[in-house]
Amino acid sequence: MKQAKGYAAISQDKALTPFNFERRTPGPNDVVIGIEFCGVCHSDIHQVKNEWGGSRYPMVPGHEIVGKVLEIGSAVKTFKVGDPAGVGCLVDSCGDCVACNQQLEQFCSNGFSGTYNSFEQDKKTPTQGGYSNFIVVKESYCLKISPKLKLSAAAPLLCAGITTYSPLRHWNVSKGHKVGIVGLGGLGHMGVKLAVSMGANVVVITTSESKKEDAKRLGAHDVIVSRNSNELQKHASSFDFILDTVSAEHDLNALLNLLKIDGKMVLVGVPDKPAPVSAFALIGGRRTLAGSLIGGIKETQEMLDYCAEHNITSDVEIIPIQSINEAYQRMIKGDVKYRFVIDMQSLGQL
Ligand code: NAP
Ligand code: ZN
Repeated sequence: MKQAKGYAAISQDKALTPFNFERRTPGPNDVVIGIEFCGVCHSDIHQVKNEWGGSRYPMVPGHEIVGKVLEIGSAVKTFKVGDPAGVGCLVDSCGDCVACNQQLEQFCSNGFSGTYNSFEQDKKTPTQGGYSNFIVVKESYCLKISPKLKLSAAAPLLCAGITTYSPLRHWNVSKGHKVGIVGLGGLGHMGVKLAVSMGANVVVITTSESKKEDAKRLGAHDVIVSRNSNELQKHASSFDFILDTVSAEHDLNALLNLLKIDGKMVLVGVPDKPAPVSAFALIGGRRTLAGSLIGGIKETQEMLDYCAEHNITSDVEIIPIQSINEAYQRMIKGDVKYRFVIDMQSLGQL
């Protein structure tokens, strides 16, 4: 075992605190990554606060992990010491089911191993995430990060990037499509950058009047402030595709009404409570409501390579780990521009 150090939630109603724990001794197929930066996803908050149920403590959150390879196992072929490397939301899966065989490990029918708040494939060893100094991961779940990308700004690609890239690709968003991105937070701002890079006509749908200018700077062609119902009305029945990244309860029907005939709305945000959907909002226009969960390892690597080619990274605010609880409070208020990323050096020496 190797002694690791990080920050953990000890229970659902307490602030995160410093925490020492053990990682496994690296095996022949393992890569040890010294974590330099870790992005802060709203899923970290949902899970720390047990908003989705079933949270396990102590919990070291963090699934937007980047750093450099510190050590490799004897059978590792594709990484060497010193390489930049990343880990996203997945650290293992059964490797043998219908989903895994299609490289859709996120839908593994035997249950994937999440990076934290989950179990290894033995179904009993808890996994711990990236708010820590290093991680031991199977080579096949390690992502390559181009040296062209600034590491701190690339960290959010590992979750916010793939979660928005995957549905945009799956539903073939491309030139000429009118695409709405709902919620301008971590996922939303990546959705804007990626959809713009794919040639779409992008409209940000936000509750924050104050984010209007930023939305344009990020590449959006237009902005709707959703609290103004006449602004929504102006865009009724006009969108080909809407990506909903909102983390809290909101009105799905008002958004569905923005879709044109055969338009599609995909949920990636996961509020804790189910939302009512009116059949009328779907049948009038043969509209589709769907969902999407992160992306498989192959697609995550494809997204990282795409971002390196198109020079796409996240707009980040770097924080020391000691500010994590305050960062959570700010994210809950929608006050993040547009991803907090923890500088792991702030953890200090072991
Ligand atoms: P975030 O940075 O906190 O952004 C969420 C944004 O949603 C806010 O900035 C705000 O944007 C908007 N919003 C918040 N409360 C709202 C409300 N009551 N009504 C309408 N809009 C509201 O969060 P994130 O990290 O992007 O994550 C977003 C959601 O995606 C979370 O639920 C997270 O768990 C989920 N997620 C899902 C996946 C997946 O695989 N499906 C992966 C990662 C994360 P405006 O100020 O612009 O309105
Ligand atoms: Zn995430």
